[in-house]
Formats: sequence, C-alpha cells, structure tokens
Amino acid sequence: MEDGTIITRAREWLNQGTGKTAALVAGLALLAGAAVWALRDEKDRKIDTIAAQGRRVLYVCKNPSCKARGTMRVPYEDEWPQPCPQCKETQAVKGFKCRQCGYILERTGAAAIRCPKCGRVHHNQGPTEDPSPPPKRR
Ligand SMILES: [Zn+2]
Ligand SMILES: [Zn+2]
Repeated sequence: MEDGTIITRAREWLNQGTGKTAALVAGLALLAGAAVWALRDEKDRKIDTIAAQGRRVLYVCKNPSCKARGTMRVPYEDEWPQPCPQCKETQAVKGFKCRQCGYILERTGAAAIRCPKCGRVHHNQGPTEDPSPPPKRR
C-alpha cells in the first residue's frame, strides 16, 4: 500500500536511532521551555501577590477610643499615619516592640522611650517592619 510518502519516511526516520534521539531532544526542549514559562508566570504571580499585600509593620493607633496595637500590612509606598485596622481611623502610627516584654510602643523618634508595661527604657527604637525589601521585577 502506497500511502503518503512523507509520513512513511518520517516514520522510518523516527524509528532510526538518530531520528528517535532528535525527536526526544526536541520534545525535552519543548518541555523545558514550557516549564520555564510556567515558573516565570508563577514567580510573577507571587510578586504581584506580595506587592498587593504590602509589608508587615508594627503599629500603634493614636485614636484614644481605640488604642489598638499590633501588626498590619501597608503598601510599600506607605505614608503615615495609616488607617487603623481596628477603628478604620487614619490614626495608626509606626510602632516598635519592647525588647523586654514585646509590648508595642509608639515610634516617636525620642531619645528614650519607657515601656509602660515593664519599665524598660529604649534608647534605640527597634525596626518598625520586617526587613524584607519590596519585591522587584527583573
Ligand atoms: Zn484604631
Ligand atoms: Zn516592655
């Protein structure tokens, strides 16, 4: 039976050693390419997610009827004060953790701040945020 000669020849070529190797290499290259693309997309998605979530910072709410304190996420281009996650008033300011008891104190820039919980005096105010830098696209 004389069917499509090109297909027949291609099949014969594929059944030879070199043809098999070439097909295998081509297939692997395609797979590798697809994997690279998939990973790249995954990385971009992660960067978008991290950028959208912002960074975690310690905050103290200045609203006298709220006085919330804890951690929250703010955009990377943050401006203070931020909206308080508890009372929604734009009265949340940067805080730092007491090195002795972990209580979150307002970061005022004063030379010394005394922790109202344990009395420890802080001459150096600790970091307000986790040290991770903003994610960057290549
Ligand atoms: Zn508040
Ligand atoms: Zn303390």
